Amino acid sequence: MTSLTQAPINWTAAITLLGTPIAALLILPVYAYHHDFSMAAWLSLFFLLAFSSLSITAGYHRLWAHRAYEASLPLKILLMIGGTFAIQNSILYWASGHRTHHRHVDDEEKDPYSIKKGFWYAHLGWMIRDYPAAEANYKNAPDLLKDPLVLFQDKYYVPLVIATHVIILGSVGWLVGDLWGVVLLGGLLRLVLSHHVTFFINSLCHMFGKRPYTDENTARDNFWLSIATWGEGYHNYHHIFQYDYRNGVKWWQYDPTKWLIWTCSKLGLAHNLRRIPSFNIKKAELAMKFKYAEQDLAIYGHDISQDIHNLKQRIASEYEAFTTTLNDMATLKEQEVMAKKQRVAEKLHQMDDKLKLEFQLVEQRLHHHRERLEVMVKTAKKLSAS
Ligand SMILES: [Zn+2]
Ligand SMILES: [Zn+2]
Repeated sequence: MTSLTQAPINWTAAITLLGTPIAALLILPVYAYHHDFSMAAWLSLFFLLAFSSLSITAGYHRLWAHRAYEASLPLKILLMIGGTFAIQNSILYWASGHRTHHRHVDDEEKDPYSIKKGFWYAHLGWMIRDYPAAEANYKNAPDLLKDPLVLFQDKYYVPLVIATHVIILGSVGWLVGDLWGVVLLGGLLRLVLSHHVTFFINSLCHMFGKRPYTDENTARDNFWLSIATWGEGYHNYHHIFQYDYRNGVKWWQYDPTKWLIWTCSKLGLAHNLRRIPSFNIKKAELAMKFKYAEQDLAIYGHDISQDIHNLKQRIASEYEAFTTTLNDMATLKEQEVMAKKQRVAEKLHQMDDKLKLEFQLVEQRLHHHRERLEVMVKTAKKLSAS
């Protein structure tokens, strides 16, 4: 394993990533002491932050890395410009590295920003030194190697970074009559914020939050991080169903990137939005609920009472029934694919309804069991304390 001190420093990355926050800390207060930032400069911070961050989340991440939807050329060009303006390397490099992250998540050797190497490594360290973040020759991105826009951006990446900054900051600054205000807030401060917001997804989203869909990796769902990351905080869902264009899959979950993609589809700019069937989502969610119930029972199950033993058996038999229904459903689906017969389709429809009901009942029962368990645990604690 290459350790942090062995790989040579990537000076471009180091200067950009460490220099910009230092510059912001030194320059902004001095400038603010001598001049007032205009309202327009503050607004440029917000709008340019939204533009560059959403270009990363909707473009680099969900469009290019995961192919969660298809975008029209004008939308792709806009996302490419915004993504270049975010200075996070080219689409090709970013998306290839991100695919490796999903494929080898939590693997200390192969996950380019493995959280197993600690917060700072996952957040920033992996970029400061020359670790191979993307797969050699971009073997995991043959689709992107055929995309002329992606190749163009990769080839002219540095001139494009300079051009986007000069043109965007120059024209906005000139339009609102506060060039330096826009350069410092919409340029410098925006860049620092947009960088760390994206890096949080690799660091904090693998550390803090809940795991409602899978506990096979470190990715977490975290509402607060979703606010900071334009909807990418539902990272547990994203790691199990990476091809879904939504990260916050429930309609009420805060995911502005999903709303942006959906709006673009209504405007004819995006199509073929990929959604994981609700059946699969519910299945993963309920399987985890059973798992958590079992874990709780394993902790408290020995010493409390016969009641817990009964509850344990009941949950086990309900899980068995639940699995049988799932298997029946899978068999029928297979039959549908094989036979495509009306009869099977009808049966499948009935089964779907039955399953919906069953899911609801299972969820209610689990909730009820959890409440009972909590009461039992409380009582047991009181008894052992007295
Ligand atoms: Zn991740
Ligand atoms: Zn991803």
